[in-house]
Amino acid sequence: MAGPAPRIVLLGRQGSGKGTQATRLSAVYEVPHVSTGEAFRAAVKEGTELGRAVQGYMDRGDLVPDDMVEAVIKAHLFGPRAPEGFILDGFPRNVAQAEALELMAGHRSLDVAVNLDASTAEVLRRIAGRRVCSKCGANYNVVDNPPRVPGSCDECGSALYQRDDDTEEAVARRLELYEKATAPLIDWYRQRGLLANVDAMGEPDAVTGRVVAAVQAALARR
Ligand code: ADP
Ligand code: ZN
Repeated sequence: MAGPAPRIVLLGRQGSGKGTQATRLSAVYEVPHVSTGEAFRAAVKEGTELGRAVQGYMDRGDLVPDDMVEAVIKAHLFGPRAPEGFILDGFPRNVAQAEALELMAGHRSLDVAVNLDASTAEVLRRIAGRRVCSKCGANYNVVDNPPRVPGSCDECGSALYQRDDDTEEAVARRLELYEKATAPLIDWYRQRGLLANVDAMGEPDAVTGRVVAAVQAALARR
């Protein structure tokens, strides 16, 4: 790979596969996978001040206020020992956050924003079967991608659970907010020449192939 380590943003509905694809891209390009949702879930589990502040928003399916999210991103990506490249999963989620990211990134802006395009019907089906590892955060699906041993993580053996915000009400609220606040980012990045739209229906491996091809094309253009 010529040039600096890639800076990639993943967009897409809840359940479109951002977490799964981000983990894979992180291995392919050897850059950290930063998930704001994972960071908040870890803070809730540890009972930190941040965790206590964000739990209510998350359980309802509401967005966490921008200043809290931006503080997490700043600490992970633009503080001391900042990584050169990264895969962002779950941030930005609205135009204000995208503008904040642009400011934080300075002259080394993003290389590509990949939109994982999956229908609402498909993501509802995936979310209903979603299970998450309580320790390492790995994602499974009881139908599409079951763990080898039911209820336990392939990677670390810890118990799998259903996320507190994967209830019917919270999922409906998150998808509504996605359409209202996040979907406008597709055009926002398109206008900046950074958008790659990828078909996210079908097998995870097939989607990974399409995502990597889209990232390679973007890196070849820079
Ligand atoms: P999903 O995309 O399925 O909602 P995430 O793990 O990305 O799952 O996020 C879980 C929750 O964390 C969100 O519903 C929201 O409350 C909070 N959150 C994560 N990222 C952001 C963000 N960039 N802005 C505001 N809230 C966020
Ligand atoms: Zn695990």
